[in-house]
Amino acid sequence: YSPATKTFHSLRSPVPLPPVSQPLSFTSYLVSLFPDRFPSHLAFINASTGDSLSYPDLVSQIHSLASSLHSNLGISKGHVAFILSPSCLEIPILYLSLLSLGAIITPANPAATPSELSRLIDISSPTHFFATSSSSSKLPNHVTPILIDSPLFRSFLESGHSSYSSDPIEIWQSDPAAILFSSGTTGRTKAAAVSHRNIIAVIAGTRAIRPSEKDTTLLLGPMFHSMGFFMVMNNIMRQETVVVVVPSPGPMSLTISLAAKYKISQMLAVPPLVIALTQSDEAMRLKSSPLRRVICGGAPLAPEVAKRFNALFPNVELSQGYGSTEAGLISAMIGPEECCRLGSVGKLNDKIEAKIMDLGTCQALSVGQQGELYVRGPAVMIGYVGDSEANTLAFDSEGWLKTGDICYFDEDGFLYIVDRLKEMIKYKAYQVAPVELEQILHILPDIVEAAVVPYPHAVAGQIPMAFVVRRPGSNINVDDIIEFVAKQVAPYKKIRKVAFIDAIPKTPSGKILRRELASLAASGSLSK
Ligand code: AMP
Repeated sequence: YSPATKTFHSLRSPVPLPPVSQPLSFTSYLVSLFPDRFPSHLAFINASTGDSLSYPDLVSQIHSLASSLHSNLGISKGHVAFILSPSCLEIPILYLSLLSLGAIITPANPAATPSELSRLIDISSPTHFFATSSSSSKLPNHVTPILIDSPLFRSFLESGHSSYSSDPIEIWQSDPAAILFSSGTTGRTKAAAVSHRNIIAVIAGTRAIRPSEKDTTLLLGPMFHSMGFFMVMNNIMRQETVVVVVPSPGPMSLTISLAAKYKISQMLAVPPLVIALTQSDEAMRLKSSPLRRVICGGAPLAPEVAKRFNALFPNVELSQGYGSTEAGLISAMIGPEECCRLGSVGKLNDKIEAKIMDLGTCQALSVGQQGELYVRGPAVMIGYVGDSEANTLAFDSEGWLKTGDICYFDEDGFLYIVDRLKEMIKYKAYQVAPVELEQILHILPDIVEAAVVPYPHAVAGQIPMAFVVRRPGSNINVDDIIEFVAKQVAPYKKIRKVAFIDAIPKTPSGKILRRELASLAASGSLSK
């Protein structure tokens, strides 16, 4: 922390970035990090089909595909490729070949509805569409997608261009590389344009994070979301093996048997999976497996859950990664010592500068003080596509990105997320953080999961309302819950309404879909 500038800096050892003036696509950057001889283990295994891909095949298929897409379909710099597919081995190849051509990858969630997709298509203005035979029917009638699971696509992959020395087209690092859709759990989904430089900076930053031991990663998150996207690129950069699981998340028994079958050493998880691991008898089989690290991100993890996990799996490091579509990876934990800081999301990633800004006065705050986290650095997005209003709100006049997360730093440089600004409940004049109440609810062993949302109230404006998933067989009631929380918080933060529910609706990155809960609450169809 520098008191003079009131900014927080990364404590990680710096990783050099290529000079910004050097023409370079993300694909070329990644390939430049590869060794002369590839490792003998596989790059990807598709757990559903058993298909696999070696590192030499990955590289040659990237170049074959790039050359075929360019010569047969005319795909080139500045084209926008909308991609609607579940995770499969072809996706990282497609991403990297399009990036090497300077085309802008725009991955979308195949679970989205046709009308949601139409909106995303309107925002991103694609010139080309890629889909699978199962996802293509969701696209508007007037588009003709290239099917990733077709013989034509296979022939593109195998047309045999194995050598690669540089990008076929001159690409500047500042050129746009991807349009990534943010979750939009409260507001509308927004389309973040990120440059080749941004992705290079995120991946370079992750080089500082872990020692170079090789992992086999179980990828349970989707590749269309920034978290899965960056994780896959990070794995390729380290020449590690990724086991791709579709559909995800599957039943716990499947996760456990895949972990055993593929000798998984690392899992990328979202909080619901970590919760499930602490509650499943089957998960105990992981104790005697090679699993040594679970990286959790995407949404807040209650310290109570982390504590339970650590007690159950003392040999597995539960690490946190915190980031966003707009800023890449902001912070992470490295090694057992950092992972002990329960409740923290780790230290700032390489080259990230941060400020904590007072919500009322917009003055920069110091260590221990809570405010909105602003970040700056080479990984921060170019901006939202075609939404100047959103850009004006997202950046301040000095180019700091407002994360919308309320955070503080401790004196050792560890970052803590208190809540998301947009999700704060306004009870009378007070701000109540739903995450704080959810973390308290997680202490109760009778509660499997909980989500707190604002509920409209004539006098108070909003009151905190909890949606609770009870453990099967539990008879904990509304009063028990209200009373338990009331004993631990200031009176204005009390939960004043509770509804029981079978499951908490969430995004693939584990975020609670508060909008859905709020409309459920408003519908009046809840059991008491
Ligand atoms: P997205 O752009 O969809 O990746 O969402 C980014 C947001 O997810 C952040 O601004 C945070 O609110 C939340 N988030 C991501 N990772 C974490 C984490 N490890 N702990 C708490 N919140 C997180």
